[in-house]
Amino acid sequence: MHEQIRNGRAHFPFRGYSHHQIIRSHSVSTRPFLNSDENTDLFEAYSISETDEACEKEFEIIIKAVQEYFRSLGIAFLTIDQSMWGNKPVAKKVTSLQAFASPVRGSVRIATVYKHSNTFARAFNVATARTNGKKEHVHQVGFGFWEGLIPPLLDQLRDKYGLCLPPSIAPIQISIIPNNQTFGADARELASKIGKHRVDIDQRYNKSIQRRLKDPMVAGVPVRVTFMGSGKIRFSRRDTLEQGTVEAGEFTEAIPHLLNSISANYEERARAHLDSNVQRAADISELGMILSTNKLVIFDHCVEDTCGKEMESRFRGEFLGHVREINANEGANCICCGNIAKRTGFFGKRAPTP
Ligand SMILES: [Zn+2]
Repeated sequence: MHEQIRNGRAHFPFRGYSHHQIIRSHSVSTRPFLNSDENTDLFEAYSISETDEACEKEFEIIIKAVQEYFRSLGIAFLTIDQSMWGNKPVAKKVTSLQAFASPVRGSVRIATVYKHSNTFARAFNVATARTNGKKEHVHQVGFGFWEGLIPPLLDQLRDKYGLCLPPSIAPIQISIIPNNQTFGADARELASKIGKHRVDIDQRYNKSIQRRLKDPMVAGVPVRVTFMGSGKIRFSRRDTLEQGTVEAGEFTEAIPHLLNSISANYEERARAHLDSNVQRAADISELGMILSTNKLVIFDHCVEDTCGKEMESRFRGEFLGHVREINANEGANCICCGNIAKRTGFFGKRAPTP
């Protein structure tokens, strides 16, 4: 890939993908999927543009793409433009998707987008020749995600009975469970009618019916179906555990609506989970109070680094950046310095990631 980039502009605009592992070792307490000592899978992608304007556009397009991806998984997150102070940033801009994860009682980055601009292009002398004979270093965007997304995923897509998978990602969307062989033909007929969905017929007649009904529930299968005789079927929604008895034909017609309704419900649940763990602080003492309850805090902020740094010196936690989804209150003042607030700041405990 590196050779390809070096060898010529025929490859621009360039898009590259990489799947690799980082190996880390920690002497302090570790958390599975976040800073365990094992290898960690990373998926990264890069694109290169000729101009800074194109790079900026690409940066925003990629942020949208990762947002849509995580929405499709039913994960609730906030999009954070990260602060750039700290140890020598390798990017001009960093925007990440951050979710609340109960196991760490804090924020976990589920995806990160970097606008590297020409930092690495200059280091590796990757440039395009302009018509005026000048060389111009190319501009790079990189983004990726890693197994750190698993804690918020498991945190949001579950209840006390097991997994709660949105229909879009469930390997099996509808589990058909004929009570016994007598209903085998009904099961096959129904499956053939709704075959465009991901359907499974459970034919484990040697297992107890309780076990066969429980398994799809634990695995998060969105809809479960059994037969009542005389053409009637009983369906059960995994999200609300509601059940209904309908004619087979009626059920077939209702599936798209049913699956959409389950997706919407999971999305709403995930959003409520995030909302209940993010609270707005009206002033600096409230910020401290909310932090002591292990929640993440949003607040009106002037956008000056000095205020973020001061908060970090006074409270346990990090200034994580500015929230894209929530505007500062109109005419409000920064809760730290009192100047006019321009954006909504985000402060809290961050998962112990590398
Ligand atoms: Zn301020």
